[in-house]
Amino acid sequence: MASKALEFLGFFESLPLTNFASMGFAQPLLRALAEEGYETPTPIQTKAIPVLMEGHDLLGIAQTGTGKTAAFSLPILHALLQDKTRPQPGTARALILAPTRELAAQIGENVSNYARHTRMTSAVIFGGVGYGPQMKALRGGLDVLVATPGRLIDHLERGTVKLDKTTFVVLDEADHMLDLGFVVPIRKILARLPKQRQSMFFSATMPKEIGGLANEMLTNPRQVAVAPVATTAERVDQKVYLVDGAAKRGLLVELLANPAFERTIVFTRTKRGADRVSQTLDEAGISSAAIHGNKSQNQRQRALDDFKAGKTRVLVATDIAARGIDIDSVTHVINFELPEVPEQYVHRIGRTARAGASGAAIAFCDASERGLLRDIERVTRQQIPSVDKRGQKGAEVASATDLRAAGRNRSEGAQPHHRARRDAAQPRREGERHHPNRNDARKEPAERRPQQGERRFEPAQGERRFDAPRGEQRAPRADGQRPEGQRPFRKRQRPRFNAKSGA
Ligand code: AMP
Repeated sequence: MASKALEFLGFFESLPLTNFASMGFAQPLLRALAEEGYETPTPIQTKAIPVLMEGHDLLGIAQTGTGKTAAFSLPILHALLQDKTRPQPGTARALILAPTRELAAQIGENVSNYARHTRMTSAVIFGGVGYGPQMKALRGGLDVLVATPGRLIDHLERGTVKLDKTTFVVLDEADHMLDLGFVVPIRKILARLPKQRQSMFFSATMPKEIGGLANEMLTNPRQVAVAPVATTAERVDQKVYLVDGAAKRGLLVELLANPAFERTIVFTRTKRGADRVSQTLDEAGISSAAIHGNKSQNQRQRALDDFKAGKTRVLVATDIAARGIDIDSVTHVINFELPEVPEQYVHRIGRTARAGASGAAIAFCDASERGLLRDIERVTRQQIPSVDKRGQKGAEVASATDLRAAGRNRSEGAQPHHRARRDAAQPRREGERHHPNRNDARKEPAERRPQQGERRFEPAQGERRFDAPRGEQRAPRADGQRPEGQRPFRKRQRPRFNAKSGA
C-alpha cells in the first residue's frame, strides 16, 4: 500500500510544473509575472527553472525568443531575494554576459521588469557610451549587472568593479560570443569570479570550442534543450528571387511599396551596403533606418525604438540585428544579400514569425550567390521555392528620380514621402543638421567622417569605435603601454546609459 502511495507521488513529481507559483517563486516576482501577462512557463522555463532553483549549474541549448531570459533571471532574482544581503559597493551579486549592446539592454529591461516589486538594483553596461554613469551605478553596488564583455573588462581594469562577490553568472548566446571573438575576454572575466558560484551557459548551437568553454565554466551541469531555431523557421513562408545583381534595389523598392510589408527588416552583408539600401529607400520615399556596427549607440537604439514603435516601416540591418533582438510583429524579412554563413539565414528569418505569428522571408539571390543559396538549403534541409526574375528589368532604375517614381507609382496606398509633414511631426533638434536625402541624418547629428590617417573599422568586439580624432583618444598609461586588448576610444558627446533599478 505504502509503495503504491509512493509510486503515486513519484508520478506527480515527474509531471512538469505548469505554473510559476508552483515553481516556488517569491510573491513580488509572481506579481511582476502576472503583470507581464506570463501565465504558463515556456518549455525552456519548465525545464530549466526547477534545475536552477535547486542550485545546479546549467547548460541550456536554446535561443532568444524561447523565453530563456526569464528562465535564468527569475531563479537568480529569487535566490538573491531569499539571501537578503545588500550588494557591497563596487560589486555585483549576479552577472549576466551578453554579446551585443542591444541584447544586453533587452535583458536588463526584462530583469528590471521582473524585479520591479523588489528593492533589488540592476544596471546594464556596454561600450560606445560614456563611463561616468556606469561608474556611478557600479560604485553603489548592484544585485544584477548585465554587461557586454569588452566594456566589463575595461571596468575590471580600471578597478571600478570587482567580481569576487558574484555568486551567479550567466553566459548568454555563447556561440554568438565566439563569432564576435569574445572567448578570451570571457575567460578573463570568469577568472575573476569566485569558485563557489552557480553558473548558467546558454547557446543556440554547440560547436566544439563552445563545448570546451562550457566545460571550463560549469561544474556538474544539468543539460536542457529546447527546439532549435529551425522549428521557428518552419512557420516562415520562404521564397527566393533569382535576380540580376543590378536589379536588386529596384525590386526591393517595388516590394516595399506594397503596404502589406508593414514591418520589414532588410538584411545586407555589409555596413556600407546597409547605408546604401537605406538611402535608396529614402530616395524612393520609403521610411527606413539603418542599424549596424558603425552607428553610434544612440543611433542604433533610436533606429530600433522607431522601428518597434512603427515610426519607420523598414529596418535595414547587418547581421548585428539577426539574432537576439526581440521585435514583435515583423511581417517580412528580406535578405537583400545572402549571408556568408548559412546558419545566419536561419537567425535572420527567425526575426519574423515570432510568438506563434506567421511571417514571410524573401531572399534575393544573384549569380554570385548561388553557392550561398545551396549552402543554406543544405543546412536547413529544404529547397526554398524560387521565382526566376533574371533578365527582368522590373523596377530596375538608375536614378533617384526613377526610384522615387517606383516607390510611389507601384504603391497602392503606400506611404508617400511627405517630408514637410514629417518634419512638422518630428522637428529637428537643436544642432541637428538638415540633410535633404537622409532620414538618419535628419534624426541624428551627422556622423563625422574619418579624416586622413584615422582608422575606421568595425571593432572585433562589436563595442568600441576607433575613429576618434587623436586629441579625443584615451590618454596612454603612465608607463606608455596600453592594457592588453585596449584600444583608443571615442568620447561620446551624448552618453546614454541604460541603468535601471528596482523600485
Ligand atoms: P526571450 O527568449 O527571453 O527573449 O523571450 C522572448 C519573449 O517571450 C519576450 O518578449 C518575453 O517577454 C516573452 N516571454 C518569456 N516568457 C514568457 C511566458 N512564460 N509567457 C509569455 N511570454 C513570455
